[in-house]
Amino acid sequence: MVAYMNREALERTLATGNATFWSRSRKALWTKGETSGHVLRVHSVLCDCDADTVLLLVDPDGPSCHTGRPSCFFRKYEDGEWREQPVDARPFLHELEAVIEARQQSTAEKSYTRSLLDGGPAKIGSKIREEADELSRAIAGESDERVLSEAGDLLFHVLVGLRQRGLDVRGVLDVLAKRTGTSGHAEKASRSPKA
Ligand SMILES: [Zn+2]
Repeated sequence: MVAYMNREALERTLATGNATFWSRSRKALWTKGETSGHVLRVHSVLCDCDADTVLLLVDPDGPSCHTGRPSCFFRKYEDGEWREQPVDARPFLHELEAVIEARQQSTAEKSYTRSLLDGGPAKIGSKIREEADELSRAIAGESDERVLSEAGDLLFHVLVGLRQRGLDVRGVLDVLAKRTGTSGHAEKASRSPKA
């Protein structure tokens, strides 16, 4: 999303960690999510070359756009018209995590997810190994459809494993983001002194 900030809005954002803007029409500060609950928890704050634009990298608690979409930039100019873009993968992964968490906490009915979590690390680990093996075989010599389906199975079980440890995909994305700019080999060497 794009919104206006004055110095006070920026100071409030830096002090509270929640994105806060200045409404020029209402002439008042407003913290994103103060009525909707969809706050933007600020991760990092960057500014551009001539310091007239601030970029906030955030963890959104719900959709950023008042239309309920994850981003305000959901229309793209293509073939002479503005076309709505499909939802990107990250919010979908967060939603899937929310479903897994809900199944974990549900006392109502037994679900597959719940039985995995009840089985603990041993059960989840053996499913992850099994799915990884199936995906490897699919990549080596099966149809694209099979590869996508097996990758989906593996991803799901990885999310359940993270959930079991109280971790989430956001943490994984942070790790990957920190590695950006470092080659895979260099990163691996930095972790293992023998390599
Ligand atoms: Zn919007």
